[in-house]
Amino acid sequence: RMSPDWSEMLQLHSRDFLANTEMPSHTWIQGYIHPDDQLHVTAAINEAIRTKSIFELEHRVWQADGNLGWTFSHAIPLLDANDEIVEWFGAASNITERKKAEEALRSNLAELARSNEELEQFAYVSSHDLQEPLRMITIYLQLLQKKYQGNLDEKADKYIHFAINGASRMQNLINDLLEYSRVTRSDKEFETIDSGLILTKVLSTLKLFINENKAKVTYDTLPEVMADPTLVAQLFQNLILNGITFRSEEIPKIHIYAERKANGWIFSMQDNGIGIDPQYSERIFEIFKRLHTREKYSGTGIGLSICKRIVERHGGRIWVESELGKGSTFYFTLPINTAQNTK
Ligand code: ADP
Repeated sequence: RMSPDWSEMLQLHSRDFLANTEMPSHTWIQGYIHPDDQLHVTAAINEAIRTKSIFELEHRVWQADGNLGWTFSHAIPLLDANDEIVEWFGAASNITERKKAEEALRSNLAELARSNEELEQFAYVSSHDLQEPLRMITIYLQLLQKKYQGNLDEKADKYIHFAINGASRMQNLINDLLEYSRVTRSDKEFETIDSGLILTKVLSTLKLFINENKAKVTYDTLPEVMADPTLVAQLFQNLILNGITFRSEEIPKIHIYAERKANGWIFSMQDNGIGIDPQYSERIFEIFKRLHTREKYSGTGIGLSICKRIVERHGGRIWVESELGKGSTFYFTLPINTAQNTK
C-alpha cells in the first residue's frame, strides 16, 4: 500500500534488491533502473498516472550486489469520489531467476535454429556439389561400357553394369535430397489457393501413370486454403503416386476429401493398397526410410519426408492410419483461407 507519490512506491519496490533501503538523493529511476529501461519505465508510470489504471511492468534493476536483476512490478490505483488517486496498491517481485531461465531457453532455441540452418545449408551445398563429380563418373563408366562391352570378360561387363547402376541410384538420391532442401529454401508467400484446382492439375500431369495402372482417383469438393501452390501440388502428387505404387492385387482406388476443423482443414487420402504395419506409421515419414526392397517397389524413400516438410512449413501435421492388407489413409492439415473465413 503506497501513497500517490511514485517515489515511495518505488522505494518499497526496491527493498527486494537493496540491502540498504535508504533512498539516495537522486531519484530511484536514475539510480537503480538499467539505463536502457529508464525511458519505458518512466513512460509506463506516467501513462498509469494519466489513465489512472493498473501499472504492470517488467524491467531491469541494479541489485545491491552490483549485478543486474529483473523485477515485475504491478500496482492498482485507489480513486476517491473525485476520481483522484488516493493511493496505490502494489507489489514487486524478484523475477531474476525466471528471466535467466527464459534467456537460457531463448539462446538455446536460437542456437538450435542456427545449427539447423547450417545443416540445411550443408545438405544443399554438398548435394549440389556432388552432382558434378558424379556426372563425370557416370559419363566415363558409360563410355567404358560402350567401347569395351563384350571385349573384356563377362565379369568385367558385370562390374561395369553394377557401377553404372550405383551411380544412377546415387544421382536419384542426390536429386531427391536437393528437392527436399528446396522445400525449406522456398520463401514464397502463402496465397489463397483452390486445392481442388491444384488437384485436377496434378491429376492431368499423372494421367499416363494413372491410366497405365488403371487407377481410379475420386475426390469431393475441396476447399480454398492459404498455402504455397507449388508445394501443395507436390504434396498431392507424392501421396497419389504412393497410393498407386503400393497397390494390392485390386485396381488402385484413391479417394480424397477434406473436413473443416477449428484450426485448419484436414485432408484425407484413402487408398486400397497394401497398407502399412502400424508400428511403422511414424518411421515412414523419416528421410530415406522404406519398408520394401528396391527390387519390389522402386523409390528412394524421400517422398513422405518431403510431404512432412511441406505440411510442417504450413504449420500443419501429417499422419497415417493403416492396417496391413487393408489400405491406408493419409491425413494432413492445411491452413484455412483467412481472406474468406466464412467459406
Ligand atoms: P518411396 O515411395 O520412395 O519408398 P516414401 O517416403 O514416399 O518413399 O515412402 C516410404 C515408405 O512408406 C514406402 O517405401 C512404403 O513402404 C511406405 N508407403 C508410403 N505410402 C504408402 C501407401 N500409400 N501404402 C502403403 N505403403 C506406403
